[in-house]
Amino acid sequence: MPTGESTAGMDTTILAIRRPGPGSARGGDVKRVVAELALPAGALLGEGPSWDEASQRLLWVDILAGEVHSFDPVSGDDTSFPVGQHVSAAVPRSAGGLMLAVRDGFALLENGRLTIVADLSEPGIRMNDGKCAPDGAFWAGTMAYDKSPGRGTLYRMSPEADVTVQLAGVTISNGLAWSADGRIFYYVDTPTRRVDAFDVDPATNRLSRRRPLVEIGPGGGNPDGVTIDHDGALWVAMARGGQVRRYTPDGILDAVVEVPTPLVTSCCFGGAAGDELFITTARDGAAEPAGEHAGALFCCRPGSTGPPATPCAGP
Ligand code: CA
Repeated sequence: MPTGESTAGMDTTILAIRRPGPGSARGGDVKRVVAELALPAGALLGEGPSWDEASQRLLWVDILAGEVHSFDPVSGDDTSFPVGQHVSAAVPRSAGGLMLAVRDGFALLENGRLTIVADLSEPGIRMNDGKCAPDGAFWAGTMAYDKSPGRGTLYRMSPEADVTVQLAGVTISNGLAWSADGRIFYYVDTPTRRVDAFDVDPATNRLSRRRPLVEIGPGGGNPDGVTIDHDGALWVAMARGGQVRRYTPDGILDAVVEVPTPLVTSCCFGGAAGDELFITTARDGAAEPAGEHAGALFCCRPGSTGPPATPCAGP
């Protein structure tokens, strides 16, 4: 799974439940979708999915296994490459190869060779989630292995490989997304239990006017990876919550994807039509027993479409 036939049959189950969803500010209809198993990957910490439009494959990583994966949802083929250290995000690169966020910084994976492009290594710290902005700059943030508060940093690497600090003092730098015009940046520092929005200065790329878009109430898990759809709504993976939630650009919960394992880590849109939502999960840290689906890839067609990954413009 899934073949071309089975993806055609991958009808999502939509249950119209008329009741306020968790975190919904105003209540109302919340669409419910059930994700289906796409690949029983058994990842320790599946993460960092991005849809590579050129190859029509899903790039994803197993952070703790130190592996970059490339998954073809049509044939079901999944290939992996060990990079020799923890790797937390993988994006296509315009000039070929992949750009990675690895433990020690930004790295290029090309022709089977890993080259550190920007060494940001610090003792006890590793890179975490990363993604390219609409201008092709690669942003990724860090966290302490022991999750010490405030030890993380969000970095931006320009196409010329100049690295700037976008935010300091973060704890678990996680999901990132941009509005289509690049003027609004959405960000999750997981312990804040919020998705924050910032204005992005188009000339300097500096962030300003931080404000909460979504505040996650108690229970239901912790906000982790995010992606944005063509309507500007955010899809937020809920670690320990077994869900991906859709929030409108106004911060209203209006859809929930149920995932049959609790450690839901990240998601992205992909597929030839951009209408498939791919979801990564983890088994590391799961309550025992982790269950057969922990660490698997999941997929659904939730009724929205989203853009493929923006390739890294350089270096
Ligand atoms: Ca994450």
